[in-house]
Amino acid sequence: MGTDSHTWATHAHKQTADLQALEQQATHTATAPLAAAIAAAQRAATTQWLTITSAVRTAPGADAIRRLLQRIRELLAGAFRGQGAHAQQAIQEAALAAVQFGAAQAARIGTLIGGSPPPTSPVLEPGPQAQAVTEGVTKAIDNEHHAALALLTTAAITAGGLAGVTAVFRRARRAVARVANAAAVAVTSAAAAGAAAVARAFGPHMLLLWVAEVDACPACRAYAGRTTRPGKPFPGGLTLDPRTVFPSPIVGPPRHPHCRCVVIPWRSDWQTGGTPLPLLLRQRAQTARRI
Ligand SMILES: [Zn+2]
Repeated sequence: MGTDSHTWATHAHKQTADLQALEQQATHTATAPLAAAIAAAQRAATTQWLTITSAVRTAPGADAIRRLLQRIRELLAGAFRGQGAHAQQAIQEAALAAVQFGAAQAARIGTLIGGSPPPTSPVLEPGPQAQAVTEGVTKAIDNEHHAALALLTTAAITAGGLAGVTAVFRRARRAVARVANAAAVAVTSAAAAGAAAVARAFGPHMLLLWVAEVDACPACRAYAGRTTRPGKPFPGGLTLDPRTVFPSPIVGPPRHPHCRCVVIPWRSDWQTGGTPLPLLLRQRAQTARRI
């Protein structure tokens, strides 16, 4: 104790920046092979299109279109093959790293502010939200693959030409965004689960204190400085701007995909110098630049 609240707030904000770096690494690892495979498939499909259209001055015939469609189906099948398993593995590993990160950060800041470490080492699990998105990512990828195939019709390619081909691959790339979202949610929720486990290990009076990332959205900034007991949800619907609102109560971050807010252990009887830390976090969030 004794160190100024501003120091702890800065510590806590640094943690959100570290979480963002962790998320970016996880997103890259999980999405890079799929993104590269879809890009390569699109290049091959575009080449095929140019081949069948450059040979004829009129539009390609029905046979050429049929062969093109078949080739694109094969290219997409190749691009998507094995990607669900890769993404699932990558996200699972990222969630395990994130729960360790959240726990280590929580133990550190709780020990520094409270003066003693947690008396027990908690069992660390990424938590139900990370588990759900990890398990769901293969299906999410499959869904986008099928949605792309649904655009690949003789009518659409005959009418749209190369734009029609491009639309198929644009649709396929939504799978990359789905994987990125899953990775982001897994990392942030696992970090929060690690912090919650450590807060419980500190003892029965320990709360979780919401720390919003520095340029958080108006909803997340409304959560800054709020506390709850581990496992008890924060209320839904808080926001500084009614255009950005998420109605459901949540046990911790992320409030939305790519939210890098964190929770840290906090006791209501802890004295930090100057403005109490929860109030300071709230004030900082309310005067942040995106208001
Ligand atoms: Zn947030």
